Amino acid sequence: MSGGAANRGRANIVKVGMDVLIIAAVAGYIIFRIGREVMGSFRHPDDEELLDYWNEVTKQEDRSAYRQISEHLATCNECRDRLDELRKRPGGPGAHSPMITRRY
Ligand SMILES: [Zn+2]
Repeated sequence: MSGGAANRGRANIVKVGMDVLIIAAVAGYIIFRIGREVMGSFRHPDDEELLDYWNEVTKQEDRSAYRQISEHLATCNECRDRLDELRKRPGGPGAHSPMITRRY
């Protein structure tokens, strides 16, 4: 009987189809994650994010965001200057501890 062989063949095609789908989904997810990491370090963090970063809120709550902002500050003078301005602001985190040093 050849019917059984044909059925097995169809089953294999379905199985291979599933494998490809899973691989594509995993690959897509990895590309998405890498893309998000890369885009995250190019984006300028806003004032609130910089303050959370400075106060180590980000460090405790979101390690990957913390790393992204660290990397961003290492390459972006604009944001380093902005963080300095934020720290000098009355009531800002720098106001109470004038001896504080730059951590980056
Ligand atoms: Zn920046």
